[in-house]
Parts: sequence; C-alpha cells; structure tokens
Amino acid sequence: MSTISSEVKPLPTLLSDVPDEKGRFGEYGGAYVPETLVAALQQLSETYERVRLDERFWDEFKAILATFVGRPTPIYFAQRLTRHVRKGIDRSKGAEIWFKREDLAHTGAHKINNTIGQALMTKRMGKRRIIAETGAGQHGVASATAAAFFGLDCDVYMGAEDARRQRLNVTRMKMLGANVIEVNTGSRTLKDATNEAMRDWMGSSDHTHYIIGSVVGPHPFPMIVRDFQSIIGRECKGQSIRQFGKLPEAIVACVGGGSNAAGIFYDFIDEKNVRLIGVEAGGRSSRAGEHAAPLSLGAPGVLHGSLSYVLQDEHGQTANVHSCSAGLDYPGVGPEHAYWKDKGRVEYTVATDDEALDAFILTARTEGIIPALETSHAIAHAMRLAATLPNESRLVVNLSGRGDKDVEEAQRLLAARDG
Ligand SMILES: *Cc1c(COP(=O)(O)O)cnc(C)c1O
Repeated sequence: MSTISSEVKPLPTLLSDVPDEKGRFGEYGGAYVPETLVAALQQLSETYERVRLDERFWDEFKAILATFVGRPTPIYFAQRLTRHVRKGIDRSKGAEIWFKREDLAHTGAHKINNTIGQALMTKRMGKRRIIAETGAGQHGVASATAAAFFGLDCDVYMGAEDARRQRLNVTRMKMLGANVIEVNTGSRTLKDATNEAMRDWMGSSDHTHYIIGSVVGPHPFPMIVRDFQSIIGRECKGQSIRQFGKLPEAIVACVGGGSNAAGIFYDFIDEKNVRLIGVEAGGRSSRAGEHAAPLSLGAPGVLHGSLSYVLQDEHGQTANVHSCSAGLDYPGVGPEHAYWKDKGRVEYTVATDDEALDAFILTARTEGIIPALETSHAIAHAMRLAATLPNESRLVVNLSGRGDKDVEEAQRLLAARDG
C-alpha cells in the first residue's frame, strides 16, 4: 500500500507566487509573439533571472531611487477630503483617506520606478538604445529621463492624437534629448504606438531594449514591471505600520495597464484582511466604445503579446476605447490583474469621466494637490468607499501622479460641462 499521497503535502499556494516559468498567472499571461521576438524575450528573461538574485543590482536601483527619484514617497492624511466625505453621513462612518504620494516622485508619477529599473537592465545587457511607447506622455518622459541619466539613446512612439493632447510632454521629452516618433495609424493613440514600438524592436533588439510602460505585454514584462513598481506597496506597508500600528483596511488604485495598482497591491496580496480595489475608466457610459474598462466590461483575449481581459467587438477585434485621461485610454490590462479578478482577491470597479473630474477639482480645492486625471478615478471611488467604511478605518489611495499635464484638458472639460 502506498502512503505517498498522504506524505506529500502540497505547498500552500500564495497568490504572490506567480507567474510560473512560462509567464502564466493562472491561465493568463504567456508570450504570444512573432518568432522574431522570441530571442529578445529569452535574453531579457535570462538577464532578469540573474539580476533578481544580484544584491548589487538592487542596491544600485535603490540608491538611484533614493537620490534621483526622491524615494521613499510619503503617505499623507487627506484630512479635509476626509472631512468632506464625513459631512452629512452617519457619524460611525467615513474612513480616513490617506494618499501614497507617487506624485512627488521625480517626473511626477510612479512611471519612473520602472524606467530606472529597466534602463539599469539595459546597461547590464550591453545595449545602447531604449525605445518606449507612451499615451499621456508620462512613460515617455520617464523613459527619456532614464535615458538621459544613463546616457542611452531614446526613441519614444506616441500616437499623433495623444501628441496633440499632450503637447507639453512632447516638448519635455525633446528637451531631455529623446526623439519622439508620432504614429498615424489606427486611432493614433496608445495601442497604435505600442504596435509600432514592437515592430521597431523586432528589427533592433540586438542593440535596443524596449521599455514597456506598464504590467502588460509578453512574459517577462508583466513580472519585471510589477517587481520594479512593488517598491510602492513595500514602502506603504512599513509606513502604515509606523503610522497606524497596523495595515490599512483598504487600498484603492486606478487601473490603466495596471502598473501603479500592481505596484501598491503586490505586497498586500497575501494579506487577506486588506481590501484591494482597482478603478478602471468608466468614460461616458458602459456602452461599447465609451469607456476603457476591460476588467469590468471586457472578456479574455490576446493583446500585445499576452492573454488577459480585453475590450473586443463582436468579431473579436480590439474595440475602440474612451477616457478623459490618456493614461487610462487602453483596451487591455495586465494579466496579473485578470488573475486577481478571477481569484476574487481584488475588486474592480469603474469611475466615470464626470466623477473623475469632480474628484480632480475637489482634491485641488480641499488638499492643495492637483492629481492626474488618471489618479482622480481612484480618488472618486475612494470617496464613495470611505463613506461606507467605519470611521476608525484607514483607506490608502495610490496618488499615482500629479495633474499639471492635465490642467488645460480639465479646464476645457469643466467649461464644456458646467459652463
Ligand atoms: C500612466 C499612468 C497611469 C496608468 O497606468 P498604470 O500602468 O495603470 O499605472 C495612472 N496614473 C498616472 C499618473 C499615470 O501616469
């Protein structure tokens, strides 16, 4: 009689223990790429396996984050916003709202954590050029900044429509010495810029590294970007324990590709008592083409090299999307979020353009902080949620970026709406 089955106990599975060696987060992720990219991805995987265990690499990364990026970013009690939420509701309700201040990171958003990490890897691989795609221009600026810091050549692909909406960031990238390549195919936005960047990389990977700006794309990108961004959650955990003596009750982050959310969620993913909530762009309505909420309203499919939730039309073609914020205006999302959604670990919801705009102006007026329009989606939902939670609980919002880039667009939208 065999006793093996009773002796071999399966290890407890932690949700943080993904992806597997094939880049799978459950059924999601993987690497659906043309033959010409397999070698480049293989090299990247091998490089990352090496640096992952290399303390000197992480020491150098952390030193740059401390001296150049300005980490750790603080957590901050949004006292007047909290008071605003508590007005007129039951006195036992109204959680404290805290901000994790990624807007204070150099270049004004969390994106720089990832570009510094990947530029450092570019040096390790002996490559001299980086390319990037950008929507709002924040990842482009962060890439151009990392390129200048490390002395690398930098080409940034940007949809012509986005370049028009985000002129200031185009100028910033050029000032930093990067070359901006405007893309005139398709909807002339982020999806099209990503296609062009991938096409470039197919012919240039011997001397070029492609810095993907979010937890999307083929393996190993979703894992690498998550790991570089997870500094946000690691800091937040320590800061919460020091400030509150315990973990926060809930954490809220906006979800475009999903990197700021993955970054703050990852260290809490196996802390089952902390509610994690991702907020997608609800746009104008839940009708097809009027939002950018693949987790809430899409279905599994392949986009840009990995399997995840995607917004698709009835023929399986990638659907048109809309959001008032260019950084959320993307039909796909990182595969790890698809995994977290299906596991029921993270809740996903939406905030509309209007709700985000209200949160944008309210945060500016009450806290003296102009948040990015992307971030404003997270704040909008955080206010709704805080009103339902006990008043002794704490809710941390990942304040993913500052809104200087958005003031003209917000003014235009507010004038059109409110007169
Ligand atoms: C790019 C951006 C986002 C959206 O990207 P994620 O990968 O989902 O984080 C959100 N907020 C800001 C400020 C951004 O610049």
